[in-house]
Amino acid sequence: MNFLQRLQEMLQRLAAKMQQFMVGRYGNDEFTLFLLIVSLIFSFLGNFRPIRFMYFMGLALIVFALFRSLSKNYEARRKELNWYLRWSEKPKAELKLLGNQIRDRKTHRYFKCKECKTVLRVPKNRGKIEITCPKCRAKVIKKT
Ligand SMILES: [Zn+2]
Repeated sequence: MNFLQRLQEMLQRLAAKMQQFMVGRYGNDEFTLFLLIVSLIFSFLGNFRPIRFMYFMGLALIVFALFRSLSKNYEARRKELNWYLRWSEKPKAELKLLGNQIRDRKTHRYFKCKECKTVLRVPKNRGKIEITCPKCRAKVIKKT
């Protein structure tokens, strides 16, 4: 058996052991991913001396993320996930809207309906037009 074959076998054994170790454990979810991204940002910011404590906050978040994925308490972890999903719903929608606005900046304009807050997307450069909200039928005149 040559070196590469032995290395491959070793890695396979390691992967199998890892799999066995993770049996019955919660593993990763969207909240874990979020924690890891934030911890990366914090650790980076912690490089700057006046906010050195950010580094340790980042470290604490990594420990928490690790604790969650190794945890066997599914119910508690799912509760945290649900809490996170509810909490992140609005910011995620705002971020998506911002992305769309940037993507369509040459062709469309976005307005929020004053009555029901629905986001309206209208083609640009049509002059002053009356827009009817498709959801609540409220009318508004906008320059496009
Ligand atoms: Zn509306």
